[in-house]
Amino acid sequence: MLNGIHFLLTYTCNYSCDHCFLYCSPNSKGTFTFAQIKEVLEEAKKIKTVESIYFEGGEPFLYYPIMIEGLKLASNMGFKTGIVTNSYWATSVEDALIWLKPFSDLAISDFSVSDDTFHFGDEETNLAKNAREAANMLKLSSSSISIDEPTVEEGIVKEHEQGTPVIKGGAMFRGRAVETLIKGLPKKPWRSLNRCPYEDLEGLGRVHLDPFGNVHICQGLSIGNFFEIPLSELIEKYDAHSHPICGPLIREGPVGLVNEYSLKHDAEYVDECHFCYLLRLNLLDKFPQYLTPKQVYGIE
Ligand code: SF4
Ligand code: SF4
Repeated sequence: MLNGIHFLLTYTCNYSCDHCFLYCSPNSKGTFTFAQIKEVLEEAKKIKTVESIYFEGGEPFLYYPIMIEGLKLASNMGFKTGIVTNSYWATSVEDALIWLKPFSDLAISDFSVSDDTFHFGDEETNLAKNAREAANMLKLSSSSISIDEPTVEEGIVKEHEQGTPVIKGGAMFRGRAVETLIKGLPKKPWRSLNRCPYEDLEGLGRVHLDPFGNVHICQGLSIGNFFEIPLSELIEKYDAHSHPICGPLIREGPVGLVNEYSLKHDAEYVDECHFCYLLRLNLLDKFPQYLTPKQVYGIE
C-alpha cells in the first residue's frame, strides 16, 4: 500500500558526500518543474492511500520557491508534508529563521536535517545546529539524520562471546558509498545475502519520484516512468513478482539476481545492498528502463 511520495526535487546538490546513494553533486542534472509537481500531486490524490508528500534531493533548498509552492499545494490538497535538507543555508540562527519562516504557516509535519560529519566537519561548522534551533523557535517538528563513517564493532552473541562483526554508522552501501566507503570493511559470503532487508518491494510503502519520470523503489531501481504511464495507473498495475529486478530480489535477494541472470560475482560482499548494487551495475544495459537513471550509478 503506497503511503508516501518523496519528490527528488532536484538531483543537484552543493555537496558531493561520500555516502550519497544518489551520487549527487553540483554537476548532477535534473529538476522538477512546478507543472510536473502539480501533475504528480493530482495523480497521488487518485491513489487514495497516499498520506504524505516529501521534498528532498539532492538539495531541495536550491530550488526554494518551487519547493515552497509544491509544499503549499500538497498541504492544500490535504497531504501531510515533509522536507529533508542538508541545511547549507542555515548560516546563522537569525538567517535560518528567515529561510524557515514560510514553513511555520504550512504546518510541515516533518523537517529533517542532515547532521553528521559527512556534511559538517566539526561542531564549529555545523550549520544543522542553526537550522534545528530556528526550527524549534518556529515550533516546527524537526528531526536529525546522522550518517557517520563506517566503523566495525564485534557483535556479542552471549556475554563474553564474540559474534559476527557489526558495521556501525548507518551508511547504505549503494551509489557513491560503494566507491568510497567499502575499503577495509568485513564481508559476508555471497550465498548468505539472500533477501532485501530494507525496501518493501512488494507493498511499496513509499516511492521516490525523480525529474526524469522514474518511480524508484530503491535508488536507481524503477518500477516505471510516470511520464509514460500516469502514476496512479502505474501503481495500480505494479506487479512486483513479474518485475525483472524486484521479482528475483523478492524471491532470494541479490542471490536471486545471480540465479536469474547467471551473473558473475565475487565470493563475498559487505552486505545485501553492496552485492545488489554491483549486480545491478552489470544489468544496466539489459534493463535500461528499470535501472535508471545512469547518473545514480555514477555514470554520466
Ligand atoms: S547525501 Fe545529501 S547532502 Fe550529501 S551529496 Fe547526497 S544529497 Fe547532497
Ligand atoms: S538489497 Fe537492493 S533493492 Fe534491497 S535495499 Fe539493498 S540495494 Fe535496495
